[in-house]
Amino acid sequence: MKYHIDTIPVWDAMHLDSECPLCALRRSTERLLISRSLGASVMSPDTRIRVNDLGFCPQHHQMMHLQPGGNRLGHGLMMLSHLQTLRPRVSQALKAGGGQGQGGGFSRLFRRQASASVGGGSPLQPLCAGCTVCEELETQSKRQAASLLHLWNTEAAFREAFLASKGLCLPHTELTLAMSGELLSGERLASYAQAAGQLLEDSLTRLEEELAWFTQKFDYRNAQKDWGTSRDALERVVNKLRGWCLGPEPMQDEQKA
Ligand SMILES: [Zn+2]
Ligand SMILES: [Zn+2]
Repeated sequence: MKYHIDTIPVWDAMHLDSECPLCALRRSTERLLISRSLGASVMSPDTRIRVNDLGFCPQHHQMMHLQPGGNRLGHGLMMLSHLQTLRPRVSQALKAGGGQGQGGGFSRLFRRQASASVGGGSPLQPLCAGCTVCEELETQSKRQAASLLHLWNTEAAFREAFLASKGLCLPHTELTLAMSGELLSGERLASYAQAAGQLLEDSLTRLEEELAWFTQKFDYRNAQKDWGTSRDALERVVNKLRGWCLGPEPMQDEQKA
């Protein structure tokens, strides 16, 4: 697969010295997509078609709803248009399920498909599963991971900076290792796997110590002792293990649409 490589944002994120530069970029992209969803692109035909088709997941609805300064009208207009697209599909799915007035066909089909396999779902399932922002975010995150691997492959200064960093979170270590076979080869492939793995293991060891001290600080005997670097250890451990989701925004300055 061909990726659009953009190395400057990866360098910018590396300079943050966070637990994961790819998380910082992903979150910044997510916020940008949300503010764009409610900004000028509300009226763009391409966006409108995709939103009508897929809608948004609960998390991204929440982010739109909580946007500073909000745009309830824009959000409302998108949902009106989405609802108008969705309503006939719901009717169709209900009919495909056997129709409400036709005895047991409906419930039998729904029961059988729901239990057939995880994610197999009923005819209604695809109508409440998509998200325009999640889909775009996945594409952009892969591009960002590809750009990081490209930098590893081509710039000695980046390799040096990466080796001196805290590496990546567990999910982004997994993503880049999964993509590295396609984008790297030979020594660079082996050295990336070695570096990413070692940085992750070193980070987890360090974080375990930081989190242990975080918990010990709740003991009254330690109340007067220094927090050291442990004050935000809980947030950083969660972010390292699951990707950024707690604490201050990792990239504050990227919120403009
Ligand atoms: Zn990450
Ligand atoms: Zn979403």
